[in-house]
Amino acid sequence: RTAAPRLPDWVRRSIGTASQVSTVEKIIKQRQLHTICEEGRCPNRAECYAQKTATFLLMGPVCTRACGFCQVTSGRALPLDPDEPEKVAESVALLGLRYVVLTSVARDDLADQGAGWFARTMAAIRERNPGVAIEVLTPDFRGDENCIATVVAARPVCFNHNIETVRRLQNYARKAASYERSLAVLATVRRLDPAIATKSGLMLGHGETHEEVVQTLADLRTIGCERVTIGQYLQPSRAHLPVQRYWTPAEFAELEAAARELGFAHVRSGPLVRSSYHAGEPE
Ligand code: SF4
Ligand code: SF4
Repeated sequence: RTAAPRLPDWVRRSIGTASQVSTVEKIIKQRQLHTICEEGRCPNRAECYAQKTATFLLMGPVCTRACGFCQVTSGRALPLDPDEPEKVAESVALLGLRYVVLTSVARDDLADQGAGWFARTMAAIRERNPGVAIEVLTPDFRGDENCIATVVAARPVCFNHNIETVRRLQNYARKAASYERSLAVLATVRRLDPAIATKSGLMLGHGETHEEVVQTLADLRTIGCERVTIGQYLQPSRAHLPVQRYWTPAEFAELEAAARELGFAHVRSGPLVRSSYHAGEPE
């Protein structure tokens, strides 16, 4: 086995000043809420918190799946907190958010896989915060159209579902999911409500080639996906998948150009890009 590549300078980032981190953390932690920013130890926390954005992780923090790249704890899911929708709505108000991203762990244990909880949380947020835009980043709901339809009916401005990696590496990186199923989730959203923007994302560094990434982007465009994020996978711990390669900023720029060429309306591509990075900003 070859030695892991060295962490390049372009993925190192300071976590910023304690005050920025603490304002957001205080509001969220006091309410026993979770964010993917914290659970995933996102490198952009200082920047996002300073701009008062964060991505709520609903129904967490324990996931019923265990993807090899993901830092969220896996195991038996916890009971839902009946006050979570209201607490998220309250936090959105306190943080003054105008654009909210909601994501969740995969709840394969729930009859509706958590789809109704997304809708309920969205309703609670809107009741307290009229005019706020809500983006969702959902699990694949095992491709169940009823679950997808529940979230679509709640009318997010953007429906994001990550394909994560290229076709060849799906089984390596996310055993409980599949390339075709993730494409089908986004295609279903398009069919049910073409007015909702669809979005997906890839994390690079598992050994994929440039051609394979471009093919994945093309496949996403074929089903009408309009937005994409491309970032560098960072190994959260030694128990997680190792990084095979660090893509350079220049390579990310090439992929961004390729994505635009393919017709994506909204592209974020760079080493520290994450699904929700600058999500609410126009192109
Ligand atoms: Fe949170 Fe997303 Fe910002 Fe990371 S990029 S800190 S996950 S909002
Ligand atoms: Fe992480 Fe999502 Fe996989 Fe759960 S389903 S382990 S939250 S990537």
